[in-house]
Amino acid sequence: NDLAQADLKHAAKELGIKYFLISYVDLFGALRAKLVPATAIGGMQRSGAGFAGFATWLDMSPADADLFAVPDASSLIQLPWKPEVGWLASDLVMNNELVAQAPRNVLKSTMLGADSLGYLMKTGVECEFFLTTPDGSKISDTADNATKPCYDQSALMRRYDVIKEICDCMLTLGWGPYQNDHEDANGQFEMNWDFADALITADRHVFFKFMARSIAEKHGLRATFMPKPFIDLTGSGCHMHTSLWGPDGANLFEDESGELGLSDLGYSFIGGLIHSADALCAFTNPTVNSYKRINAPRTVSGATWAPNTVTYTGNNRTHMIRIPDAGRLELRLPDGAANPYLAPAAMLAAGLDGIQNQRDPGKRLDINMYTDGHKVKGAKKLPLNLLDAIRALEKNSVLRNALGAPLVDGYAKLKNEEWNAYSRHLTQWERDNTLDI
Ligand code: GLU
Ligand code: MG
Ligand code: MG
Repeated sequence: NDLAQADLKHAAKELGIKYFLISYVDLFGALRAKLVPATAIGGMQRSGAGFAGFATWLDMSPADADLFAVPDASSLIQLPWKPEVGWLASDLVMNNELVAQAPRNVLKSTMLGADSLGYLMKTGVECEFFLTTPDGSKISDTADNATKPCYDQSALMRRYDVIKEICDCMLTLGWGPYQNDHEDANGQFEMNWDFADALITADRHVFFKFMARSIAEKHGLRATFMPKPFIDLTGSGCHMHTSLWGPDGANLFEDESGELGLSDLGYSFIGGLIHSADALCAFTNPTVNSYKRINAPRTVSGATWAPNTVTYTGNNRTHMIRIPDAGRLELRLPDGAANPYLAPAAMLAAGLDGIQNQRDPGKRLDINMYTDGHKVKGAKKLPLNLLDAIRALEKNSVLRNALGAPLVDGYAKLKNEEWNAYSRHLTQWERDNTLDI
């Protein structure tokens, strides 16, 4: 990528790239791109590729000036399954200024804020997804019907060709993939690769979804990251593991003498996440469907593995935050629809507020929250639907100050519109339960 940084045109020649995908992610996490022949990349590297912002999920109008997606050459990824194409994450510019509501810009500026305090956030994401039939209506493997399908070796190996091809790509890219498994829902899988600086992970997260979809499609399947595609099965989470690192390269969340090996700084970060949890959900659980994953009743296999409450714990999967081992925490809120840039940006903003205000995370609960949660007085519930989360976001000054008003206002506006569109939709459930009343 040093090669690319200097000159994409030259890099194209060296690497055999014929086309570049200059792409960006909008507020809803959708990947937008232009396919640019390598012969034309020179000018585009300098001034960016033009887009009409209103045509994508950004809070813009058709009268707004063109957006320019200026590729970040250091993000270059040569598609392992189509090496003549080079993918580039880019930063949005409008009227020569960085667009304040562009998700990647927001993550970068939040990380810059953390940097001025001496913190670098590192993250690792656990992408869960289903392999379905091409129309997405059912899982693709009819034999995958065990009541407890988690880690099912046969079901995993029946999808070996797809999983292996995706994992091979990650090996080629040097991401450090280290395990792949069949998850707790029929038809559901998870693939893990090494953690890294939050911006690198976010770019990889975006690319992983694109890659998994593309390769599944090649095999006549569909990969979906929809949070809850099947109501009786566990949903697809996207747990985010997090730690803050100092300028000298030390993990500031690690402290041998701290409870569970987590430092005071780590506990204050948790305090911040707990303080802003309901607003955070607007980013970590961004769709109507997201709320059918969290707060869900037990599934056929017996547990949802998704959080219901604003609580934290040690190595226990029934809470919002888990401290799996020393030096990091796992936020279990995010789902497959979470925006790969906005979710970590919001998480960092909330965590930093916890540090700056030394927010008390409260008591660690080492209980099964699904069965014994009702015994805990005052345990806060997570928002029950998207509207509650958006309202919490609108009231939350921590995220607003850190992520900026243009982002929060624009996002809340579009998400309110989404909620209204959903509310105008009549469901079969309403007919079944109301026609004869
Ligand atoms: N699928 C579960 C969720 O929705 C997570 C399962 C796990 O712990 O890996 O969060
Ligand atoms: Mg998992
Ligand atoms: Mg996990």
